[in-house]
Amino acid sequence: MSKLSGKTALVTGASRGIGRAIALRLAAEGAAVAINYNGSAEKAEAVAEEIRASGGTASVFQADVADAASVAAMFERFFEEFQRLDILVNNAGITRDALLIGMKETQFDEVIAANLKGCFLCTQLAAKRMIRQRSGRIINISSYSGLHGNAGQMNYAASKAGVVGMTKTAARELGGRGITVNAIAPGMVETDMTAALSGKAREAILAQVPLQRMGCAEEIAAAAAFLAGDEAAYITGQVLSVDGGLSI
Ligand code: NAP
Repeated sequence: MSKLSGKTALVTGASRGIGRAIALRLAAEGAAVAINYNGSAEKAEAVAEEIRASGGTASVFQADVADAASVAAMFERFFEEFQRLDILVNNAGITRDALLIGMKETQFDEVIAANLKGCFLCTQLAAKRMIRQRSGRIINISSYSGLHGNAGQMNYAASKAGVVGMTKTAARELGGRGITVNAIAPGMVETDMTAALSGKAREAILAQVPLQRMGCAEEIAAAAAFLAGDEAAYITGQVLSVDGGLSI
């Protein structure tokens, strides 16, 4: 597997979960990968080590994607080390769940800042370079919640619906420069984010999933690798649901 050899990739929130799986998969396909994290330095370094141990190239980059100065510093460091950017995966995300009537303003603001503003900040800086390169792939991780809503997730669903709007807008603005922009909308995936779900909540969701199981991070990574590769060259502005049929 070396479909992405010679390419560089930056994956936000790659210290754990889906981002980690995407970083490992892109590296396995030959890309040199930048692993962004916010607080989990050791976990991010372990992902980089795993890539290097199998002969790949990886570096870790701390940045809070919700913070413009932090993102700018990360991209500056990234370009010093990698020179070009072929693939950006906007994966970093958080939840602060609460029902509408009890949701605090801070819960709303934190989720919008990390999930939506973070996607904007990284996309803007990546696009500036990709426009000059006249090529690039941007892959945004949205969610089933952003397409269909989810009780207890007004902040999160709004952020992920916003990511879909950003994806389509960026696809329209950047298509003429050879850049594709697509989103993946995962359903329920086994990661730290979903580990907190009670057995009851889990059962209720799984009852709606035709494939009758949760997804694994590697299944989202496979979709990201497809969108990053040559075979997806004529796909842009799309949202690919990877959800076991939850959204049917
Ligand atoms: P996770 O296991 O909680 O991991 C989240 C990752 O995002 C971590 O690497 C974390 O870094 C990073 N992150 C969070 N806030 C950040 C910030 N401000 N700046 C930089 N990095 C930040 O989550 P996951 O389940 O893998 O989710 C990954 C993406 O998929 C998210 O966008 C999520 O909304 C989306 N998604 C997940 C599911 C699911 O069922 N799991 C379903 C639909 C969509 P640190 O470790 O350094 O904090």
